[in-house]
Amino acid sequence: MTLDDWLRSARTRIDSRDAQVLAAHALGCDRAGLIARGREVLAEESVAALDALLERRASGEPVAYLVGRREFFGLELAVAPGVLIPRPDTELLVELALARIRDLEAPRVLDAGTGSGAIALAIKANCPQAQVSALDRSDVALQIARNNAQRLSLEIGFIASNWLESVTGHEFDCIVSNPPYIRAGDEHLAQGDLRFEPETALVGGTDGLDDLRRLCGSAPARIAPGGCLLCEHGHDQAPAVRALMRCAGLTDVSSWRDLAGIERVTGGVMWR
Ligand code: GLN
Repeated sequence: MTLDDWLRSARTRIDSRDAQVLAAHALGCDRAGLIARGREVLAEESVAALDALLERRASGEPVAYLVGRREFFGLELAVAPGVLIPRPDTELLVELALARIRDLEAPRVLDAGTGSGAIALAIKANCPQAQVSALDRSDVALQIARNNAQRLSLEIGFIASNWLESVTGHEFDCIVSNPPYIRAGDEHLAQGDLRFEPETALVGGTDGLDDLRRLCGSAPARIAPGGCLLCEHGHDQAPAVRALMRCAGLTDVSSWRDLAGIERVTGGVMWR
């Protein structure tokens, strides 16, 4: 069986781009390399490895977990089942944070609930003068995020903390978060990649707002005067999050739309 034969048959069961990504991963080449190797007769072990990946993908496992990688904001990140797979939607949060801190000399930034480290690393990569901290309560997540930081040679201060509980003696110019915000029992949890992602990174209680409430309640006390809080949230949660932020004493509260035109990030400024 040649590589092209395998790709042709895989395409009948899974998305053809997914088949290419899995083949490139299993064969240790890039997607361009697949074209060059199309007529190569595959060794038996290669076919077995490719078929195993095909079966797992066909049963729904996310491509990012199968290859252990996902690109986010131009960075190649390691991901594994203990962390949420970074989404393109979340790039909006990074862009907004970068716009807020760009002109500061050494902005102090905190990514609350960092998971793979995606947001913290994207900010540090694009604003090297920032002092970026990242917290997570999950040891598995912190390990994955630490490894990503090391591999990308980006300096991040990691904190093991359930939201801001263990963050003492620090003030930040910008706190960013993509917290769990899906409602418990939401039908999307039984679909696609979400079925395989950690529920603790996805579900924010019965109305999806539990963690956003905690963040809006506890973050303002850790924000330096004139600093901001920016949070990602669900497609219909912007009014509720604006209300939470105003209640918490933040001003200039507004929401921003993602590429699909959905209000996806809400933020406000703290003056004390
Ligand atoms: N944006 C993700 C989704 O709806 C959820 C991520 C999250 O809960 N923070 O698929």
